[in-house]
Amino acid sequence: AAPVIAIDGPSGSGKGTLCQKLARHLGWHLLDSGALYRLVGMAADKHGCAFDDEAAIAILAANLDVEFVAGEAGEPTLVLLEGEDVSGDLRTEATGMLASKVAVLPAVRSALLGRQRDFAKAPGLVADGRDMGTVVFTTAPVKIFLTASAEERAERRYNQLKSSGDDVNLATLLGEIRARDKRDSERELAPLKPADDAVHIDSSGLGIEEVFNRVLTEVNA
Ligand code: C5P
Repeated sequence: AAPVIAIDGPSGSGKGTLCQKLARHLGWHLLDSGALYRLVGMAADKHGCAFDDEAAIAILAANLDVEFVAGEAGEPTLVLLEGEDVSGDLRTEATGMLASKVAVLPAVRSALLGRQRDFAKAPGLVADGRDMGTVVFTTAPVKIFLTASAEERAERRYNQLKSSGDDVNLATLLGEIRARDKRDSERELAPLKPADDAVHIDSSGLGIEEVFNRVLTEVNA
């Protein structure tokens, strides 16, 4: 089986940037598992599913019609959900909330398992999520649990959203991040928690380069 680097942590911990950088550096595949949950949340919303209709949402998850269209050099990848360009909405906090609502449903999580594991192909995979090390890739040789204070994560998200032209408010974001953390860590199935064999890194006050180098040390160890 191809080697996997499992990177878990709360939103805004810097996982996304770190994983992209690692995958590019190593020439490995990248799994953005959060995007899958976001897409299922959007699909459920679009089809007017009640968020407690586990069976209906699991069917959407199992049959998720999504296409990633790589952009020209320097241009972002387009994400098509049922043929419709949803790239603009995929990363918003509102979509993150939808994602975390469908993510509490066990049938939805299991419907996405196979799709996630299929990303583990040669030469290797960098897997970004909440349960990569604890559920999806339990035998990954390298597991990282990346955290940062809620305040710092809110600030990072604020700058990220602001630079993409979103109208955001720091206090609102902090509240949303805390609400999402709570839902993610208190749910029964696959709660956000470090794997027993994960290396913990607190990225508060650290630059991306410092975090990247720490992780590379683990990969090469
Ligand atoms: O990482 P991202 O912010 O895109 O994830 C959105 C939401 O999807 C998370 O708040 C979480 O509820 C859910 N998720 C999950 N398991 C994963 C990845 C994301 O439950 N592996």
